[in-house]
Amino acid sequence: MTKGIGIAGIAGRMGRLLAEEVAAAGATLVGGIDRPGATPAPGAILLPDIAALAAAADVVVDFTHASAVPAHAAALAAAGTAWVLGTTGLSATDEAAVHEAAERIAVVYAPNFSPGVNLMLALAERMGAVLPAEGYDVEIVEMHHRQKVDAPSGTAIGLGRAVARARGVDLAAVRESGRDGHTGARRTGAIGFAALRGGQVVGEHTLLFAGASEHIALTHRAFDRRVFASGAIRAALWVQGRPAGLYTMMDVLGMR
Ligand code: NAD
Repeated sequence: MTKGIGIAGIAGRMGRLLAEEVAAAGATLVGGIDRPGATPAPGAILLPDIAALAAAADVVVDFTHASAVPAHAAALAAAGTAWVLGTTGLSATDEAAVHEAAERIAVVYAPNFSPGVNLMLALAERMGAVLPAEGYDVEIVEMHHRQKVDAPSGTAIGLGRAVARARGVDLAAVRESGRDGHTGARRTGAIGFAALRGGQVVGEHTLLFAGASEHIALTHRAFDRRVFASGAIRAALWVQGRPAGLYTMMDVLGMR
């Protein structure tokens, strides 16, 4: 029997919008969790912990903090509850916990739930395949609001991974972040990242391929974080009843 959607981080900026988008989609919000003392989205039931939320929901939509990921992975896998994970800033250990959970439950993990950014990710892979490392330097520039705690953004890293994948290299081996001081010349094949923080910018990403005779850049600007919330609820409705596995927003959008 269908139970409904639970929200982890229901007092947060995204959590509040997610609660609204559950209602807009005509789905059932069973409740949410947040840190002790937090005020949840209006009208939402606050549950004591992730285990209680996992038991109450068919799918948990999680926009919290990377430090919560291993415990959430374990609780959701134990309960057999699907997981839509939007939290960014995950370490390799956190990502390993996500992969382990995906062996037992359906997980949609996406650094960005907007349709436009997912199209950009697909185009990034195409550009990486067509424009070789020897001729085109790749730089990824992102800007976000001053409250954002991780850098570069999960979306920027996702764009870098897409280019690296197309070039047949591991992003970790070619990544250059936050250049400062006497850095030496740019390495051929490096993928550079620059993160700007300020004001209330919802999210801007530019992917630049700089060649000797031409530049090509793709830019995405999100004006309202509701685009992420509606995408995540779309993913929550899509993932219900799917077999265990790790899915992305590209699967939800039918882009592969
Ligand atoms: P926020 O700080 O406003 O909200 C996070 C909420 O999670 C807070 O209310 C906090 O108290 C709660 N929280 C933190 N740790 C928790 C825990 N262990 N258990 C329960 N609740 C906990 O932040 P935000 O802007 O809503 O973003 C949340 C996360 O989502 C960030 O990682 C952000 O980068 C990411 N994000 C992803 C997308 C996407 O499309 N994937 C879009 C926007 C934001």
